[in-house]
Amino acid sequence: MHVTRGQIIARGLTHCCPNCGAKKLFKEGTLFELNRECPDCGLKIERDEGFFLGSMSLNYGVTLVGFLVPVLILYLAGVLSGLVASILAGIGAIGVPMLFYRASRSWWLMSYYLFLTHHLPANGWVPKQGEDEHS
Ligand SMILES: [Zn+2]
Repeated sequence: MHVTRGQIIARGLTHCCPNCGAKKLFKEGTLFELNRECPDCGLKIERDEGFFLGSMSLNYGVTLVGFLVPVLILYLAGVLSGLVASILAGIGAIGVPMLFYRASRSWWLMSYYLFLTHHLPANGWVPKQGEDEHS
């Protein structure tokens, strides 16, 4: 079965495994813990150190551009007082990354396989000796 880029995007946006589509990226009953591998197809989800640094950057960018800059603009425009803007910024700086955590992990995995669709086992990827899906 060949997985298309459209399927990878749809699966990434809905936090599903890019290889088989199972909604099992995260351990059941947890909010922030990734499965080491997909329970349905065995795709390795948890990667070596550094792989998900990109998702942290994505999360940081969304928090900054999507929340903190608008709060700053509202403050500079005189819509929000300094106190309200400071409180909102403090809450948002902690809350937005937490709310976006799952999506950022899923979107980062999606972006990897979006560019390297041939690395999915469903698309025929067979790792060579000493390689895994992301080598
Ligand atoms: Zn899977």
